Amino acid sequence: MKIHQIYTHNQLRNFNYIIEIDSKNAIVIDPWDAVEIGKELDDRRLTLKAIINTHEHWDHTQGNKSLVEKYGCEVWAHANGEGKIPCLTKTLSADELIPLDGDNNLLVLDTPGHTYAHLCFVLLEGEAAKGVFTGDTLFNAGVGRCDGGGDPETLYHTI
Ligand SMILES: [Zn+2]
Repeated sequence: MKIHQIYTHNQLRNFNYIIEIDSKNAIVIDPWDAVEIGKELDDRRLTLKAIINTHEHWDHTQGNKSLVEKYGCEVWAHANGEGKIPCLTKTLSADELIPLDGDNNLLVLDTPGHTYAHLCFVLLEGEAAKGVFTGDTLFNAGVGRCDGGGDPETLYHTI
């Protein structure tokens, strides 16, 4: 398994992540630019198995539709994202494990506050936490705004 961090160079300074599960399959977190993500996948001869959206905001989901059209992949996100997240096919629940390769899994955390459809994902190697994908819940030296459908008190408890 490899993880590729892609900086979008957009005004909001988003990061996208390609999780290369094995030599053929990948998962993408929060795709911004479907063309750029598609090129990254094609260069590595990867098929997109699924998109994971940390939450429903457009800057985390705008690549969904084009990538679904190109790869026929699934889209996974919080149940509260239904009707808001383009092409959503499967809802994820707290404590669910998403298998990657070997003993690597993503552990789903329900993390309301920035919005009420926000999930974070802990990368587990066996039982050891090796990283976390935090979307707009937690940044370097900050947290996400709450005026786009969230609540500061709830975010405080999540943090
Ligand atoms: Zn957001």
